[in-house]
Amino acid sequence: MKTSIATVSVPGELREKLSAIADAGFDGVEIFEQDFLAFDGGPKEVGRIIKDHGLEITLFQPFRDFEGLPEPERTKAFDRAERKFDLMNELGTDLVLICSSLHPKALGGIDRAADDFSELGERAAKKSIRVGYEALAWGKHVWDHRDAWEIVRRANHPNIGLILDSFHTLGRGIDSESIRSVPADKIFFLQLADAPLIEMDLFYWSRHFRNMPGEGDLDLLSFMKAVMATGYSGPLSLEIFNDQFRGGSPKLVAQDGYRSLVNLMDQVNRSSPDLKLALPSIPAPATSKGIEFVEFTTDEAEAEVLGSLLNQMGFINSHKHVSKSVDLWTQNDIKIVINTEKEGFAHSAYVTHGTSVCDVGLAVENAEEAWKRATALGADPFSQTVGPNELTIPAIRGVGGSLLHFVDERSELSKVWEREFILIEDATKAATDAKLKRVDHIAQTMNYDEMLSWTLFYTSIFDATKTPLVDVVDPGGLVRSQAVEGKNSLLRITLNGAESHRTFAGQHLASSFGSAVQHLAFESSDIFGTARAMKNKGFEALEISPNYYLDLAARFDLTEDILSEMQALNIMYDKDEQGEFFQLYSKTYGEGFFFEIIQRKKGYQGYGGPNAPFRVAAQKRAGRAKGMPRT
Ligand code: MG
Ligand code: MG
Repeated sequence: MKTSIATVSVPGELREKLSAIADAGFDGVEIFEQDFLAFDGGPKEVGRIIKDHGLEITLFQPFRDFEGLPEPERTKAFDRAERKFDLMNELGTDLVLICSSLHPKALGGIDRAADDFSELGERAAKKSIRVGYEALAWGKHVWDHRDAWEIVRRANHPNIGLILDSFHTLGRGIDSESIRSVPADKIFFLQLADAPLIEMDLFYWSRHFRNMPGEGDLDLLSFMKAVMATGYSGPLSLEIFNDQFRGGSPKLVAQDGYRSLVNLMDQVNRSSPDLKLALPSIPAPATSKGIEFVEFTTDEAEAEVLGSLLNQMGFINSHKHVSKSVDLWTQNDIKIVINTEKEGFAHSAYVTHGTSVCDVGLAVENAEEAWKRATALGADPFSQTVGPNELTIPAIRGVGGSLLHFVDERSELSKVWEREFILIEDATKAATDAKLKRVDHIAQTMNYDEMLSWTLFYTSIFDATKTPLVDVVDPGGLVRSQAVEGKNSLLRITLNGAESHRTFAGQHLASSFGSAVQHLAFESSDIFGTARAMKNKGFEALEISPNYYLDLAARFDLTEDILSEMQALNIMYDKDEQGEFFQLYSKTYGEGFFFEIIQRKKGYQGYGGPNAPFRVAAQKRAGRAKGMPRT
């Protein structure tokens, strides 16, 4: 598999783009003419820089408004093409993309266009150039790859071929299956892009909203299967125009691009083994069995405050680490680690972000395989020296530089708690069960610009899908929220993208210096019992406005008793087609971190989205809980 990306897809100036593209692992680049024109060196120099990066030029583009012109425009178009062929010889590339014409004088007719391409093929051959023809979704006469193919077929010249672009085919709703009948040697090049499904003008949609395969809603898998069924073996090249990416980091965009291609081809390979694609084999998407542990980094003073909050929620400090200043707090299947070490990763995370979640352990079927898949997809591996008798648990870097550890039951890894922690006998005697069973979800807050990256990160590593994006209205702006869910619902991660630092999520982002876990939600088997038990231990719930309960009474069929109990305990409510949802929140800790308690009844699938604006307003009103320090 030869990978390529158009220079236009990556932000920065040409040299920055090329470094990021080469570092991400690509084999080649499409030179977008604008990037060449903006560069201050000649074509030979550009060609040399690209070679120095270990890349090849896979395509030069675009050449526009060529076919179907009357004289004198027709002669001029051929002359323009010849000049570009000379330039390409200097750059050191032999393939040019011509997109279907938008010229106001261009005439229709398959044969007229085929004749133009036949003649152009003759001229191109003399300069050892190949020409690929692409149907733009908004082309004047040609906007369907089937028509572009018919023109190429009738042109009948070895130097004239077809260029396919997933956006133009899928964005127009054209059936990908029609690609299967095109001979592989006539498909000169393949461009890939995904996009979110939004109703808008095709040109505007394409120029501003394209994204990496897997980041949008188009059926790239069917498209790719049809292309690979022809026997196509040329480059897979990303051509992404996206406003967010233009302002992003070259490194991140290039890494996401590479990850998206590896992931897409892995999907094609898994769903069509009959194609026998020559791909390096990578482990299957990891099946997550839930959150094994959540680790906080903090100092001794704040560890006490965090500990007393956990205690109010029914957790006990049941274990301590054999040699390190690390405590384990437990309740049923939930494990919270509090790390106050003065060195190592957790400490540096504390220095940078303050008290925060620095590490999440995910239970998976096979930890080694999950790690292998993640790193094959370009995730940064993490390791640090372990003490005697400590296990090396496979880990990668996740959101905001925090860690993701993979733990499984098949290896020694599940024994980490027995091997590295000592039971504190007295603590277990004092246990009060608040009926918190497991971690339901982890909510991570990030800049909106990073949301696509992290969604792709999770959905490519894990056997997981994403839910539609929902908007949460905060008094200070909009927060976009999207969940990534494992097939079995044991893995639930919500991603919240803040566009403004005036939102509650945005404030958290600014004060914790980067993306971070903003809340942890625990599942209760009896939320009313949980709320009462926690209240008895001094837990202060986030106070919800009485107006909210008046509205609940109007919207749902709830008895007076239940409503008044919910109001007394500050429990919020939602309902979907399947079932009911109850939730309550802690006051905020530090600069906006909080805990959530939830109960799902009869398969409720959401996260209480309709309640989010009222929760956020209450949080902004409440400030932080008594005794809770600023981090
Ligand atoms: Mg294209
Ligand atoms: Mg939540």
